[in-house]
Amino acid sequence: MATKREGGCQCGAVRYEIEGEALFTALCHCSMCRRAHAAPAVAWAMYPEDMVVFSKDGRAFHASSPEARRGFCQACGTQISFTASFIPGLIDIAIGSLDRPEDLPPSLRYWESRHLPWLKIEDGLPRYPEFPPQG
Ligand SMILES: [Zn+2]
Ligand SMILES: [Zn+2]
Repeated sequence: MATKREGGCQCGAVRYEIEGEALFTALCHCSMCRRAHAAPAVAWAMYPEDMVVFSKDGRAFHASSPEARRGFCQACGTQISFTASFIPGLIDIAIGSLDRPEDLPPSLRYWESRHLPWLKIEDGLPRYPEFPPQG
């Protein structure tokens, strides 16, 4: 049976279900994610867009760059998703919005060049100065 995960925002206006495995999980240190989430780093799980089904979709969207759209709950502000023209057909889901984020750890870290010096992480994961190699 396929893995099923559920998640949503803090207030419940956004709820989603995902059936199947993530293509990729990562912790991002980039300054765009940091600012958007007001958090020192952001964990993402990437899926084919049609694998993520929103049963309640109270998202609004912010274009954080001309290519990218960040989806967040328009009621409570929780950051939920990231889509971009450079990852067509794919959606990143913020692992922190899952009901059980502990079940889906990051497999690498990227934008390590922007890693905040006071954030100490000793996870032994592969690290990339910018985006990881594609594929
Ligand atoms: Zn909400
Ligand atoms: Zn980022």
